[in-house]
Amino acid sequence: LPALPSAPGPVRRRPTRQLSVGSVPVGGGAPISGQTMTATNTADVAATLQQIAEVTAAGCDIVRVAVPSADDAAALPAITRKSPIPVIADIHFQPRYVFAAIDAGCAAVRVNPGNIRKFDDKVGEIAKAAAAAGTPIRIGVNAGSLDQRLLAKHGSATPEALVESALWECSLFEEHGFSDLKIAVKHHDPLTMIAANRLLAEQCDHPLHLGVTEAGPAFQGAIKSAAAFAVLLGEGIGDTIRVSLSAPPGEQAKAGCHILSSLGLRPRKLEIVSCPGCGRLQVDIHELAAQVEAAFDDFPHPLRIAVMGCVVNGPGEAREVDLGVSCGNGKGQIFRRGEVLRTVPESRIVETLLEEALALIEQESAK
Ligand code: SF4
Repeated sequence: LPALPSAPGPVRRRPTRQLSVGSVPVGGGAPISGQTMTATNTADVAATLQQIAEVTAAGCDIVRVAVPSADDAAALPAITRKSPIPVIADIHFQPRYVFAAIDAGCAAVRVNPGNIRKFDDKVGEIAKAAAAAGTPIRIGVNAGSLDQRLLAKHGSATPEALVESALWECSLFEEHGFSDLKIAVKHHDPLTMIAANRLLAEQCDHPLHLGVTEAGPAFQGAIKSAAAFAVLLGEGIGDTIRVSLSAPPGEQAKAGCHILSSLGLRPRKLEIVSCPGCGRLQVDIHELAAQVEAAFDDFPHPLRIAVMGCVVNGPGEAREVDLGVSCGNGKGQIFRRGEVLRTVPESRIVETLLEEALALIEQESAK
């Protein structure tokens, strides 16, 4: 299919060092990658791998797993061996799990600044082991885990406090000659998170991982994340993202992909152009749009499909789509790139769109 129109002009990305999270390059002009975290008990290898398969299918590039216990650490070799995408171990308290994660072949390790003091005497050893294995370290700072000393100094988790914490923790590794570092400064408030990342971008050249932490339920959280990411990515800041929602990991991964493709930062997959409805509406447009979205969920080709609630503005309003339907009188007028093909009963709209999509793909590949 012809390339879909891309987002507004190219953004000049902030120059950063590049590191490799397994097979995925991060920073240094590499494509912006999407991450998420599994919500299984990591020690349950089968369930964790199943969830990793789901987020991979949803478009996730890198996955993070929590390692709060020895059983979780023991599961890492099996998970990293079988995961189709790079695995980052997320470790808060136990330096020995960091060594286990490096030995297990994890693509990176995330450590928590609120606990780094407990790691103090181990930082040199961690830096040495990570350097020997080529394992990057992610410094993850968020409001909830900010060092007490910095909370007291700044009064709350201000952008300055988050950045000071991140750079201080980086310095602990840099003192040992280790600089394969990626930084995340997260906050539940998009404005604080934006300010913190702008500040950080001015003060270092490490790749940045963007996230609005604890963003909320799916609808609110996706909007907060999209708003923050659009501002920062539009300024060239950010090398990898995670959307954190109170929703299944597959949904979080999907939201991240949608944000990146909406900004023209990764190829579009399915895009539904559906009308909001108005007084001319002659169909349950919410239900029909959801049915079309579900039917094309794993369609392997990028398509833009219009679902219009009446015939008044159907094909004309949606000339730039590949396929579409405009509804009225219990029927659907099916059109392709602005040209009306046929009219079918409402009950056959979804299957007809699928048939026409397959015909379109066949026709395009025969060219
Ligand atoms: Fe209203 Fe028809 Fe436009 Fe939908 S397509 S918003 S129903 S005029």
